[in-house]
Formats: sequence, C-alpha cells, structure tokens
Amino acid sequence: MRTIIEPFRIKMTEALPITTPQQREEKLAAAQHNVFLLNAQDITIDMLTDSGTGAMSAKQWGALMVGDESYAGSTSWQHFEQTVRDITGFTHIFPTHQGRAAERILASTRLKAGDIVPNNSHFDTTRANIEYTGAKAEDLLTSEGEDLYSMHRFKGNIDLEKLERIITENKGRIPFAMITVTNNSGGGQPVSMSNMKAMKALLTKYNIPMVIDCCRFAENAYFIKEYEPGYQDKSLMDIAREMFALADAATMSAKKDGLANIGGFFACHNEQWAEDFRNLLILTEGFPTYGGLAGRDLEVIAVGLREALEYDYQRYRHATVEYMATRLSEQKIPIVLPAGGHAVFLDAAGFCPHLSAADYPGIGVVNSLYLEGGIRSVELGSVMFGRVDAKGNETPAPRELVRLAFPRRVYTQSHFDYVIEVLTQVWQQREQIPPHRITKQAPFLRHFTAHFAPMAQSKAQKKAV
Ligand SMILES: *Cc1c(COP(=O)(O)O)cnc(C)c1O
Repeated sequence: MRTIIEPFRIKMTEALPITTPQQREEKLAAAQHNVFLLNAQDITIDMLTDSGTGAMSAKQWGALMVGDESYAGSTSWQHFEQTVRDITGFTHIFPTHQGRAAERILASTRLKAGDIVPNNSHFDTTRANIEYTGAKAEDLLTSEGEDLYSMHRFKGNIDLEKLERIITENKGRIPFAMITVTNNSGGGQPVSMSNMKAMKALLTKYNIPMVIDCCRFAENAYFIKEYEPGYQDKSLMDIAREMFALADAATMSAKKDGLANIGGFFACHNEQWAEDFRNLLILTEGFPTYGGLAGRDLEVIAVGLREALEYDYQRYRHATVEYMATRLSEQKIPIVLPAGGHAVFLDAAGFCPHLSAADYPGIGVVNSLYLEGGIRSVELGSVMFGRVDAKGNETPAPRELVRLAFPRRVYTQSHFDYVIEVLTQVWQQREQIPPHRITKQAPFLRHFTAHFAPMAQSKAQKKAV
C-alpha cells in the first residue's frame, strides 16, 4: 500500500483549545510577544518542541503502574539499565532528570577554561553548559550541511578536515569531541555511519574520546537504513548498536527518542569518567540508581527506547515530516531540504527578505503563525544563537530558522493539513511581518524569557517588499 498510516489507534483523547484571532492577539501581547511565555490553553497546535511532548503507548502506561519506587537498586532501575546497556553497550549508565543534567555534569567534571569541544552543531543547552565552564563550543558542519538547500542526504555530518585542523592547532585542549545525532540545531539532519566511523578513526589517532549526543539516535538509525548503502537489511537496533560501538560516552534526553515525558542519561566506558560523574550526580541529582527520576519514569523510558526502534513507527514518523515538507515546498515556501527527522525548518531570512537579522525575522514568523492559527513554533536564529559581547554588540547567528517540531504520536494528518493551511496564509501575507526588538533579556539562554516588541516597518523595509 502506498498510504503510510499511523501505526496505532487512539485510546484516549485530549481536547484542543480553539481560540479567536482577538484572543490570540491579547494573549501574545500579555506574553511579551514571546511564545515561550504563552499558556498551553491558549495554543491550538503546539509545535514548539518534540521534547517530552510525545504520547505514551498503552505499554508505557502499563509499565508506569509497576514502577518500583525503592530509593536504591529498584527493579525499575534494573530494567532501565538493562535496556540502555542492550542498545548502547556502555559499561557505566547513569540516569539524569534531563539531557542537560547529563551535559552539565559531563562538562563540569571534564572541562576547564580554555578547553575546546568540537561538534557537528552544539544544541543550545550543550553549548551553554560547555561555555559555562569557560571552555569553547565549536560547530564544524560540512559545507553541504551549512547550505540550507543542498540536497545532500547526510547534512548532519561533521567536517573532518575542519576537525583535524582544530585538533592539530589546539593540542591538549580538547578533552572530548561530540557528534549530535540527528543534528537538532542544524535542521534535524542525519549523520551517516561512515562519517561517524571516519570521525572515530581521526579521534583515535589523536587519543581524543568521542561523545555522542544521542537524543535522536533512533531517528538517525532510520535515516541510515533508508539512505546509506549497505544498511537496507539491518534492523534499527543493529544500526543503533553499531553507532554506539564507536563512542566512548553518550548524553541522552529521554524526552526525545526515549518516548518519555521526562528523563535522560549519561553512559560511558571509562572508570574515571564514571567515578567523577557519579560523585557529582549524587550531590546534585540523586542516588545513581534513580538520578533525579521516579522509578516509574525509569520504567517508562525502558519501554520507550525499544518502541523508538520499531521500524513501522519510524517510517510513519518520517512520512509525516516528509508530507508537510513536500506540501510547503510545492508552494515555494523556503524550508530546509531535505526535511530533517523531527521537524520542518522554515528559512525565516528567505521568508522575510524585507527584514535583516537585527529585526529577528524568526520571531516575526513565529508570532505570525500564532496570530494566524494558534500554532506555536520556535525561533532558531539570532535570538537563540546570536552572541552578545560585554558592550551589548550582537553578532547574528549564521542562519535564521523557525522550527515546527513534531511531537511523537500526538497529531494526525488533519492537524498537519491545518498547519499547512495556516502557513500558506502567513506566506501569502509575509510582507506584513513586522521587525521585532528585544526589550528585556537574560545573559544565558535568553530566548526562553526575553521580552519582544513588534515595530512598525521602516520605509526601507516597506520598499524591499
Ligand atoms: C533536547 C536536547 C538536549 C537537552 O536535553 P533536555 O532533556 O532538554 O535537557 C541536548 N541535545 C540535543 C540535541 C537535544 O535535542
């Protein structure tokens, strides 16, 4: 059959809030024009993130009921540890309350000021946790990966020449290198197995450990199976194992391919890394057999990690993203192509040629999608990734993207048809999207709490339209 159906039926429903344009205008103004500050009941389709927003399966809800809440050595911890070890093969496994807790402890136990951590692209929390220690987070995408419209299949690959250059120029200052699968900040693009293998060989030559940011390891495994020669007949589990066999350690947010609403882990082989991690984990997260999670969460993640590796689930999930991307590019709406694994990324700079980076075109598009149809998306551009120096001067981000993330197993095809209709409407009136200014901001991760003000368009902006 050519129709790829949702490989599940719906057992429980949750009403969606339907709002009027006037209500949305009031709510957005009250939220200081930052959609992070909106309340959930004011949003119809929430595509802010795919993180922790998935629907659990009946098996997961069942597992939740048998969660063992013993403080130490609970049976749920054992199920969690066995599952993570079965998939990743790591010697030491530590639960954490989220991915960023794993990142924070890894960064503060292994990094110092002046160190450098290369990655294909660091996610915002990864970068912030690395830079908080005084180390530098370097993004080393390939030129195809940097090109929003290149049709290369593995645009998440790390540039090995850039990596070798940075290693030879900074001897002794790289405690580990990272690879993010799939590459969230770079459009949800996959990394090929051959790129990971070549990276591993290079790092081994210089004796540098390799850490996988594996939040979307199962989605990445699907891309490898579909598009990398030699993997067609392998299961997603086998591909995942092959990926993890290359790594010395991994950080994970179970809110992504753990198909859970909370949780994460750190895993590694090295005894000393484990010892240092354990000590700080106990200090700030919890005893090493629960790491800040309830036993029931560990149980749910153990089930979710396996469900994420089911082929029919991944095939349907990728088909939904593909469906939306195809409908949008048919109308020439500028999106990152090929579509990534967990989201459709709009090119806000291409969407709003009348706005410069300093006008935050991504915020303009995000706010227009909310006002038009109650859809919540997120800016991944100069607000999230721009750098502000001590004098307040701002270097814009290399790209101005808006991400429409797909929560796992939550929305059906008619919801996506609605999103496509709203986007089409906004696209047809794009010249009316106003510039925005920041009126208040925090020194780290400012996008979460910043206040914005829409401005009237200048004469030059009107003319550019
Ligand atoms: C979500 C995410 C993180 C952080 O995980 P949290 O659970 O949100 O703390 C790190 N890296 C990547 C690539 C992510 O997508």
